[in-house]
Amino acid sequence: MEIGFIGLGNMGKPMAKNLCKAGYSLIVNDLNREAVAELVAMGAQEAQTPAGLAKNVDVLITMLPNEAIVRQVIMGETGVLQGAAEGLCLIDMSSVSPEFSRQMAANAEKQGLAYMDAPVSGGVKGAEGGRLTIMVGGKESVIQKCRPVLEVLGEKIYEVGAIGSGDAVKMINNMLLAVNMAAAAEAFVLGQKIGLDPQKMLDIIGESSGSSYALQAKMPNFVFKGEFAPGFMIDLQQKDLELAIQSAKKQQVPFFMAALAQQVYSQAQSAGFGREDISAVIKPLENLTKTTVRVCKK
Ligand code: NAD
Repeated sequence: MEIGFIGLGNMGKPMAKNLCKAGYSLIVNDLNREAVAELVAMGAQEAQTPAGLAKNVDVLITMLPNEAIVRQVIMGETGVLQGAAEGLCLIDMSSVSPEFSRQMAANAEKQGLAYMDAPVSGGVKGAEGGRLTIMVGGKESVIQKCRPVLEVLGEKIYEVGAIGSGDAVKMINNMLLAVNMAAAAEAFVLGQKIGLDPQKMLDIIGESSGSSYALQAKMPNFVFKGEFAPGFMIDLQQKDLELAIQSAKKQQVPFFMAALAQQVYSQAQSAGFGREDISAVIKPLENLTKTTVRVCKK
């Protein structure tokens, strides 16, 4: 089976590498030359355009920043639909809205292609280790055909329902991540200010009712080390919050926490941290309170 992969960023590059290591024949495309070169060095081929790539593969994965870019890569002048032959399976693993995936699927199906949304959770570490959680929306027959590929990338693969249902769960997951991260940042700045040891706080709260993924993963791996390279960028988190807020508006669901979190991430963006990991949401608060939450490893 020939696999195409478009979007070799923080997530896509390790995912594509895992497919190479698993023995799949891979064709890749990205605007970033260095990322493409790394995959080519592992035996992948390069395609100059998404259309050129689509001509030669059975399954095509996209892992791109946002809807506008996914649309351009699929529907653009040199996009996937310009080169794809009937029967190609398109798997969009980017975090986008359910409505967007339904639109893309309709366009792809008109041309005889199959389409699934399969967004992921687990961060860069999960991508590197092939341990992602994958939330899949689409037709059962398509999912079964692509399952062996997904099993290389993830440990837990959930078949959620029709097209867009994977995106819906992912959107809600990321609303919670955003709120939990912003709350953990405030909590640890207060703890530091009143003289608690951050490591001790993590040890205790990590085993208590205030725990969360943001606390368990982001505090020790990013904040305590003062290392904020992504990871999961604040700009992308804002995009995901906006997807959830728009959905809540349509459903007339009050969404106070997400709306508040959006302001906190806006503050971090305007302070210049948009392309840093979401844990950098703590930095404006640290600056304001003249505190830093760091742990020196002896
Ligand atoms: P990223 O910005 O690191 O990577 C995006 C890649 O897409 C880059 O290599 C970029 O060069 C490439 N690209 C952009 N436009 C392109 C185009 N027109 N043609 C070809 N390539 C193009 O983003 P990421 O962190 O890897 O995230 C990708 C998606 O996965 C996003 O939707 C994000 O929300 C989601 N996601 C990210 C994480 C995470 O922890 N980083 C976790 C889960 C889901």
